[in-house]
Order: sequence, then structure tokens, then C-alpha cells
Amino acid sequence: MTAKPSIIIAVDGPAASGKGTLARRLAAHFDYAYLDTGALYRAVAHHILQRGDDPGNAETGLRAAQELDVTQLQNPDIQTALRTSAVGTAASIVAAQADTRAAILQIQRDIADTPPDAKAGAVLDGRDIGTIVCPKAPHKIFVTARTEIRADRRWQELCASDPLVKREDVLADLEARDRRDRERATAPMRAAEDAHLLDTSDLSIEEAFVAALALVSH
Ligand code: C5P
Repeated sequence: MTAKPSIIIAVDGPAASGKGTLARRLAAHFDYAYLDTGALYRAVAHHILQRGDDPGNAETGLRAAQELDVTQLQNPDIQTALRTSAVGTAASIVAAQADTRAAILQIQRDIADTPPDAKAGAVLDGRDIGTIVCPKAPHKIFVTARTEIRADRRWQELCASDPLVKREDVLADLEARDRRDRERATAPMRAAEDAHLLDTSDLSIEEAFVAALALVSH
């Protein structure tokens, strides 16, 4: 008997759009696996920065992606280290490299197709899940929010660990990262043609979840 194919929910969108929170909640609701694909790019970038190497060097990026140890992502210290602005910026530089992306692609597809713990499905969040990683996913949501609102959300998140962080710096970083993610040649951030758009600017976390659930439930 062949195993049933995994049910995939693709959740894409820019930084601080609320896609991570939504994707986690959808995964918990359906008892599916959850994969934060941004964490893979952040882990590659973190590894490079820790060695004092240049994230802009494509060979360095490819090597770090090939050495990526996904099990390390469960470590709470690593998770905290991955959330900084510096790592986010370096991640978007690394993410523009075609070979580095190719090395990370199969890791994502393996988890989507064969979710851990024999779960029936997987929710992946990122920038290119609906377009490149899982183009045949039956459910796709592209989550957006106005730039100012996203910058405020990210600023508040960063202030918890660094009260001196400036709102205008967070906004500038976010805009630069959006631009790099949207304009890169390989797998640019964009909504798949069959994705549902969900703007969370004026929604609470609960309201956004209810809206997302309605989109994937029909
Ligand atoms: O989602 P997060 O902000 O953690 O992602 C960090 C960076 O990783 C993004 O700015 C983007 O450049 C890259 N990324 C990507 N494709 C994905 C997920 C993340 O290019 N599927």
C-alpha cells in the first residue's frame, strides 16, 4: 500500500507580515508538521558570520548550506541567535545565491513530502514555498501587511532584547530586505498565481488565524 501524499499548506510573505505565527497556528490546528524555512537561511547566514566570512560570497554560502545541520535549529540558544537583525540581513544576502538556494531546496521538499513523526501534512512558511518549493501545494496563502505596521511589529519584538534599537533603523532594514527578496533573480518573493492574499494590517492574531483557516478549509 502506498502512503497517502502529505497535505501541504504554503504560507509566504514578507518579514513581520505575521506569516510565522499563522503558519504555526495552522500546523497546531491540523496537527501537521511546521517548517520555518527562513530559519534555514538564517542558520546558514549565522554560521558564515560566526566564522567571520562574507555572506556575499556565493562559494561560502554554498559550503555553509551543504554543512547545515537542521537538528541544531531545535536548540533554544541557536533560535535566539538567529532572530537578530544582522542575521536577517545576512540571510537575505545569502538567499539571493542560486547555488545556496538549490542546496536548501531539497531539505524543504523532504520535510514537506515526508513530515516528521508521521504527520499527515506540513505547513511551510517562507518566500517561495507556493512558487518554487511546493508549487503543487493544495493550499497557498500570501500574507501581507503595510510596511509601517510590519516595521512596528518587528521593532517591538527586537526591543524586548535591546531597548536601544531605533524604529527608523528597523524600518530601513526591513525595506532593504524586502527589496532584496523581491528583486533577486532566483526565486524572488512573490505570491503564486493560485495563492490567497491575506492582509493582516488591521487584524489581531486571532482574527488573522480565523481568516487563514477559512482560506484553507474550503
Ligand atoms: O522569514 P525570515 O525573515 O526568517 O527569512 C530570512 C530571510 O531568508 C528572508 O529575508 C529571505 O531572504 C530568506 N528566505 C528566502 N526564502 C524562504 C525563506 C526565507 O529567501 N523560503
